[in-house]
Amino acid sequence: MRMSRMFLRTLRDDPADAEVPSHRLLVRAGYVRRVAPGIYSWLPLGLKVLAKVERIIREEMESIGSQEVRFPALLPREPYEVSGRWTDYGPNVFRLKDRKGNDMMLGPTHEEFFTLLVKDLYSSYKDLPLSLYQIQTKYRDEARPRAGILRGREFIMKDSYSFDIDDAGLDASYQAHREAYVRIFERLGFDYVIVKATSGAMGGSASEEFLAVSDTGEDTFVRSPGGYAANIEAVTTVAPDAIPYDNAPAAHAEQTPDTPTIETLVDHLNEKFPREDRPWAAGDTLKNVLVILRHPDGTREPVAIGVPGDREVDAKRLEAQVAPAEVEPFEEKDFAANPGLVKGYIGPAALGSESSTGIRYLTDPRVVDGTRWVTGANVQGSHVIDLVAGRDFTADGTIEAAEVRAGDEAPDGSGPLELARGIEMGHIFQLGRLYAEALGLKVLDENGKLVTVTMGSYGVGVSRAVAAVAEYAHDELGLVWPRELAPFDVHLVAAGKDEAVLAAAEGVYAELIGAGLEVLYDDRVGKVSPGVKFKDAELIGVPTIVVVGKGIVDGVVEVKDRSTGERTDVALADLVHAVS
Ligand code: ATP
Ligand code: MG
Ligand code: MG
Ligand code: MG
Repeated sequence: MRMSRMFLRTLRDDPADAEVPSHRLLVRAGYVRRVAPGIYSWLPLGLKVLAKVERIIREEMESIGSQEVRFPALLPREPYEVSGRWTDYGPNVFRLKDRKGNDMMLGPTHEEFFTLLVKDLYSSYKDLPLSLYQIQTKYRDEARPRAGILRGREFIMKDSYSFDIDDAGLDASYQAHREAYVRIFERLGFDYVIVKATSGAMGGSASEEFLAVSDTGEDTFVRSPGGYAANIEAVTTVAPDAIPYDNAPAAHAEQTPDTPTIETLVDHLNEKFPREDRPWAAGDTLKNVLVILRHPDGTREPVAIGVPGDREVDAKRLEAQVAPAEVEPFEEKDFAANPGLVKGYIGPAALGSESSTGIRYLTDPRVVDGTRWVTGANVQGSHVIDLVAGRDFTADGTIEAAEVRAGDEAPDGSGPLELARGIEMGHIFQLGRLYAEALGLKVLDENGKLVTVTMGSYGVGVSRAVAAVAEYAHDELGLVWPRELAPFDVHLVAAGKDEAVLAAAEGVYAELIGAGLEVLYDDRVGKVSPGVKFKDAELIGVPTIVVVGKGIVDGVVEVKDRSTGERTDVALADLVHAVS
């Protein structure tokens, strides 16, 4: 590609709204261009990097046997109505009507439609396991679109879904995805961590996030020297055995007037965090708050409550989210008649949505996540509360929010916790049978019996990855792409106006292209000085810069490594070898 023809204007100044390096540099170097908040156009350079990220992802998805499909972004309401997400998504979803007045939406994620597609075409256990993926544009009306393409309102996601007949199958599919993700993030060059994430009430046990370690990240995670790693939203601060859950009913029997009720807890939270100074921003929808209650006899009990503004979840949906056989009947009167009866139910943290609603009504936490304990707390914005009745709040209404602090012992005893920030690059989820149940995806098993399929869902932020790579791949002069992601392999600069230099540069350009390299050739003549060309080359960030200048009379060009700054004179005859 010749710079003289390329659709590109580099900018000398940072865009006024840019807070983070990737945003600054991707705009200045001409990779993306803003259209509206959280909505960006991809320019030729940016599209090339995006395509390379996509290629890595496709290769790794194909390597685990996942097959590519593509759904529309424009979707009808009904399936989302059935799953409950039409309302769950709240203001995060872009809604519109077609000319006939039908409700439509722009898909924020596609669990429902993949479920329905498989239901449409498959009917037997022999068809499974199955894994499908797409690389597709998603829409979320984020409360705070931020940092250019790092958090867009339109963005590109790779989402995949696995379909299995049983739990062992789901485990295997999840594991295969996890390994593919490890390879993807290695190839993207990230310093990343895999952290335990909130799995909420999805009926599955495992949910993990891949976070690129970065100070500009919006997620906070903890890790210990012994290998514990969790999103701070998912930190368990009390060891499981410390909670004598089975004793809890006895504790209920000895209610004292001080024993907190859910209502008082909600009130306390309301008071503690008045709208104006909550540790999350207006417009955010809160996720669940998990709370540990300590009863007067010292026993502890996990509970979870929704916070003000949340909707309550009806019994029907609740049953769909946990194994029905194990759920105690959902009866509001239990709750009303026994002010101290707090049966824990982990709020949903509905898949892939920040619009997850907390759940005020509570069922047995053992059923929800396969263990008999729930600890920690979770509100949007990574603020952690772990409340213990009698210590953290009292009958007179004081609540102390206890944050997880650096140096705290890890819940599994694996050493002191370190806190750091990360960018969520990927999220893998054992969904279980939630969507299959809600939408009726069943197949015949070996015995001719209808069984509900179990699913996983797995996301990677594809457009976000371009920005997240730029977050680490830059210096004060500009971008510094790793070779596998760079828009070009070589940036060739003709440094000078005289005929000999230009002719030689043309020759080098042809030769490098002939050798199969992708070359960006700065052939601009006239007003563009060599200084400007060098500055642009540094800003654009192609890993190898070849300068054809005065040395050409001796048959020598300069090869510069963009990342180290190291310059070497190379004989023309050796050039292809030197830059390949
Ligand atoms: P976040 O916590 O950053 O809002 P999320 O948990 O809502 O992300 P998921 O629903 O898990 O996102 O979606 C899968 C992946 O899609 C995320 O891991 C992230 O990489 C990417 N992603 C989500 N929201 C955005 C966005 N607004 N812009 C760009 N990428 C996004
Ligand atoms: Mg989100
Ligand atoms: Mg997230
Ligand atoms: Mg996520």
